[in-house]
Amino acid sequence: MATHEKVDVAIVGAGPAGSIFADVLARAGKKVVVLEFGPDWNDNELISSEIWGRRIKHAPQFQLAGRNNPGHGSNAGWGTGGSMLHWFANMPRLMPIDFKVKSLYGKGLDWPISYDDLSPYYDRVAADVGVSGDAAQERRWHPIAKDYPMPPLKSFRHGEIFRDAFKARGIPLAPTPTGINSTEYKGRPACINDGWCHVGCPIGAHATPQWTHLKEARARGTELRPFSYVTRVLTNAAGDRATGVEYYDDKREQQVQPASAVVIAAYAAETPRIMLNSKTDKHPNGLANRNGLVGKYLMCHSGANVWAMFDEDVQNHMGTTSTQFMSYEHYDKRRPKKGFGSAWYLMGAAMKPNANIAGSRPDLFGKPLDEYMRRAVRGLTRLNVYGEVMPHAENRVELSGDKDAFGLPMARIIHAYDQDAIDLWNNSLDEGLEIVKAANPKEAWKAGGAAPGTIHLIGGTIMGTGADNSVTNSFGQTHEVANLYLGGAGLFPTEGSVNPTNTIMAVTLRGAEQMAKNWSAIAS
Ligand SMILES: Cc1cc2nc3c(=O)[nH]c(=O)nc-3n(C[C@H](O)[C@H](O)[C@H](O)COP(=O)(O)OP(=O)(O)OC[C@H]3O[C@@H](n4cnc5c(N)ncnc54)[C@H](O)[C@@H]3O)c2cc1C
Ligand code: SF4
Repeated sequence: MATHEKVDVAIVGAGPAGSIFADVLARAGKKVVVLEFGPDWNDNELISSEIWGRRIKHAPQFQLAGRNNPGHGSNAGWGTGGSMLHWFANMPRLMPIDFKVKSLYGKGLDWPISYDDLSPYYDRVAADVGVSGDAAQERRWHPIAKDYPMPPLKSFRHGEIFRDAFKARGIPLAPTPTGINSTEYKGRPACINDGWCHVGCPIGAHATPQWTHLKEARARGTELRPFSYVTRVLTNAAGDRATGVEYYDDKREQQVQPASAVVIAAYAAETPRIMLNSKTDKHPNGLANRNGLVGKYLMCHSGANVWAMFDEDVQNHMGTTSTQFMSYEHYDKRRPKKGFGSAWYLMGAAMKPNANIAGSRPDLFGKPLDEYMRRAVRGLTRLNVYGEVMPHAENRVELSGDKDAFGLPMARIIHAYDQDAIDLWNNSLDEGLEIVKAANPKEAWKAGGAAPGTIHLIGGTIMGTGADNSVTNSFGQTHEVANLYLGGAGLFPTEGSVNPTNTIMAVTLRGAEQMAKNWSAIAS
């Protein structure tokens, strides 16, 4: 085992959360090392092919249990950028009500911060990464202090075709705020609307940490160590300070990276796994887990999809994998006739043959599939409704008795929807189908299945007001180990019903700046 020279900060994971920590701390003059399990991707390695794209989605294996499991592989990233390398780039914000669900409705949890606390950070993230959208139209739903830096992306018929149907029902739409350039921005080109974002954008129009925060951090001396698989956070004899991390390098040799502070930003399942695997005699249940909350309150979003086939060519290959339009109009958590939680509409994502077009009719094979796809490549489009799911302690990540290829205990993800989530999903499918039918498609159908599709992974290391109710404070600083910070959607006590990454970046920026500001009190 080799021990490296001590650095100020060791960061686990080069996704958006790890990259923002690196950028802020490097700007503050800290010596930073980012340890990333996957490769250091270059833009010229990204190939616009669904078959090729499979290689950027590799992730550690988890055991899955519970009735409705979101899994890990389809949500997580691998290599620089994390899953933001191949994300769809929807960049909505949470709503003010999402931060106080327990106080307002008696369900779920409250955040220790409010929308107003995060609002300036959302604005700064938009300026940092580049967001295309129309804040003026969104202000009917929530306060947005600053306009987005770029106008909305171009729209296409497969999104526009729903506009009249929504209008007829009195449901306003707005362009989806998107982390994709509608114009040239900070030296990155405008999008060419070829819809390959989900396998990584080779021209850099799509906001991903390699072209934004990680690039800035590296320009200020941050060292990125790819193919470094972190297994444990190391602590001092008293157990109150992190002293570094242990990892396997690209030759599978064990290494130690000593550091004055440690950040784990390895996504919502792997972050608690590393903490549980870091147990010592001072932390017998896992690091910073005296209250047993590490791994608990795991959530995902439910996904209700309604498909529509039109006779006309709706140009569904054009655009981006982000959506063209969205609506918060049904976000009121008490609105569904049955169930509870927010619903968020989005439509107009570009489609590619495998994941979307063939996947829209999983019951077809052979000649019927061939005939269907010939029609669908011209006429198919889709409405999505994301649904909120309440946090429950029994939905969790825990260690299993089995070991991975490095001899490390594997983790199990356990998740089941409650009845509120299932009712909300059914409600969204019914309402979605009504709206879609009003657009006069040739055919319309709900995506099948007895239970909701699962999207994103949130919670597991939640923030709160104190050690009795949470793993970290509102900055991601663990209650028990002052120089150990966590990043990512694992910190969210509730999830709203919108994509998480804009909020991940806003929360991370706030946490990283607090760490830099209080460095002398935090560092060991
Ligand atoms: C197909 C797809 C589409 C998406 N679309 C959207 C969208 O439109 N809008 C949105 O808001 N969000 C979207 N997301 C989710 C979004 O990408 C994630 O929320 C975001 O990337 C999470 O950031 P993170 O930094 O917390 O984790 P990640 O991006 O997952 O980064 C974590 C990094 O840690 C590394 N790592 C893990 N374990 C270890 C270890 N033990 N040692 C060292 N390194 C480790 C991983 O390799 C990874 O690179 C999408 C995700 C996917 C997969
Ligand atoms: S659609 Fe735009 S953002 Fe997506 S891959 Fe193509 S150029 Fe990049």
